[in-house]
Amino acid sequence: MKNITICTLSIFAFVLTTSAQSKFKSQRDSLEFEAAKTEIWSPMPKVVTPGATASEAPSDAIVLYNGKDMNAFQKQGGGAAGWKIDADGAMTVVKGSGDIQTKESFGDCQLHLEFREPAIIKGSNQTRGNSGIWFMNNYEVQILDNYNNPTYANGQVGSYYKQHSPLVAAGRKPGEWQTYDIIFTAPVFSGNGDVASPGRITAFLNGVLVLNNITIYGPVEWIGLPKYRAHASKMPLRLQDHGFDGGEAVSFKNIWIRPL
Ligand code: MG
Repeated sequence: MKNITICTLSIFAFVLTTSAQSKFKSQRDSLEFEAAKTEIWSPMPKVVTPGATASEAPSDAIVLYNGKDMNAFQKQGGGAAGWKIDADGAMTVVKGSGDIQTKESFGDCQLHLEFREPAIIKGSNQTRGNSGIWFMNNYEVQILDNYNNPTYANGQVGSYYKQHSPLVAAGRKPGEWQTYDIIFTAPVFSGNGDVASPGRITAFLNGVLVLNNITIYGPVEWIGLPKYRAHASKMPLRLQDHGFDGGEAVSFKNIWIRPL
């Protein structure tokens, strides 16, 4: 009799457990069905292999300079790029040879670039290690040796020249390699040449945020206020030979770009 009771209780417990499991599974299926309504399965992000280090280009980047040749560049306006490649693979400005620009044109992009200010300090203010990254030939993120070198805030390294000061001064000492990682959004022009949406820039200098999605008010001007002029949706990236510095020139390495 006792065995029969235990057996009956066991069956009852089994039925109860199975029933609860079934109910739980049903609830779970229902939740998963609802959750699936907000899942995106297509298109999937393209697989990109990151570089082994932050300096190394990811698999989908266009390498503009890797220490071997300047084939991706030409002199601004045409002709061979007049800069030099040093023994250590750095590409260095030859003062007076002119700016260099990419042969290829770009619009929205992510840019990685490394630069080094000359170790021997000469010049001051804006004539010490001045260069710059000119997106679309018009929009300059400043390169300058600001180490113990006062200058106006909106002309420091990390600035969008004369329009936005860097959030912080994150430059390294002259002679040390520094990194820029920049996201550039091109301005868009309407049919009549007006700006439909202004350009934007986010920039990290040595891994530190210096420009946070700033609005570009127009092409960089040394004198006067910026004013947009309509241009093509893709244009070359230009690197500056400032030309007025007293000492050695700025060097570059590991330049790559990802059109967005
Ligand atoms: Mg400059």
